[in-house]
Amino acid sequence: MISFYPGPSKVYSDIPRYVQDAYKSGVMSINHRSSEFVEISKTVIHLLKSKLRIPEDYTLFFTSSATECWEILAQSLISKKSYHLFNGAFGQKWYEYTKKLKPNAEGLTFSLHNPIMPSGLNIPEDTEMICITQNETSNGTQVRNKTIAEIKKHYSEPLLAVDATSSLGGVYLDFKQADIWYASVQKCLGLPAGMALMICSPKALQKAREIGENNHYNSLLFMMEKMKVHQTTYTPNVLGIYLMMRTLKTSPIIEAQDSLIKERYNKWVEKINQLQHFKCLITNDEVRSHTVLTVEGKTEQITSIKREAKDAGILLGNGYGNWKMTTFRIANFPAIQRKEINRLENFLSSYY
Ligand SMILES: *Cc1c(COP(=O)(O)O)cnc(C)c1O
Repeated sequence: MISFYPGPSKVYSDIPRYVQDAYKSGVMSINHRSSEFVEISKTVIHLLKSKLRIPEDYTLFFTSSATECWEILAQSLISKKSYHLFNGAFGQKWYEYTKKLKPNAEGLTFSLHNPIMPSGLNIPEDTEMICITQNETSNGTQVRNKTIAEIKKHYSEPLLAVDATSSLGGVYLDFKQADIWYASVQKCLGLPAGMALMICSPKALQKAREIGENNHYNSLLFMMEKMKVHQTTYTPNVLGIYLMMRTLKTSPIIEAQDSLIKERYNKWVEKINQLQHFKCLITNDEVRSHTVLTVEGKTEQITSIKREAKDAGILLGNGYGNWKMTTFRIANFPAIQRKEINRLENFLSSYY
């Protein structure tokens, strides 16, 4: 079965070999305070910074999921108020989780079809963190680097936090325009689930020191202390970190990855536009995601195409949330191979 599910998604095809290597070399049993672990951790951080163009003065952290990042941000970087801009299920969940810990959190929904206009926003003065979902996996929209930069320009005081779970590793992200970025690894990074990355600017770390929250195993202050020696506060997903190191070693730099993804994206849009009973849910190219394509149709058509695809050995992503019955999704992640894309293209050509 070829998976086009946008998460958990297809992992890199070299993963079985890397897992074998990890077993043979004893990585699966190393102590997370050992020099062997520190060496792997240092290497991954160096590779991430150089391949993804993360600024040198940003700090990387290993967490267990994007959901955990929501909690870390709420407990350690917001004393009272965050402001959430969202147009889909994941941005909304982030808002709702935060509200449980920090009841003053405010949210604003924006259109699926137009970019956020920072000049038209009215974000309260006492906002400490603005939260946006760069790539909304549920509906296949994205917030472009340009818009993120404009938000930062209009609101330079609060921290800017970005969920990049289904885009990090596939598209070029302008990290210096925001203070916190995070992504779990089972989507665009093509790795098995159970880990996430969080990337923080010096300003974010300064805010954590000011707030001084240190009551949890995942309090950011505690994580910062451990990361000074390239370690984590708890026994981390050592295998996940190792697999990330191995995949990054052979992956192209982000500019090259980005152009490959964009080229494939253009072909997908062209292909979808040729289909009889289906169309792109998002028609505006400015806000359409490059890594998750959402295809809309009548419920019966959606049900039957998913079933027929499955019979042909192809797993299409279900719709999500409000779009569960009327869309299917196609992941456009780097781990998916050209020959697999051809299979889906041929399937679509012959049936639709
Ligand atoms: C999948 C996803 C999450 C949740 O990831 P977990 O690893 O399950 O915590 C959060 N945000 C976005 C945009 C996602 O796509």
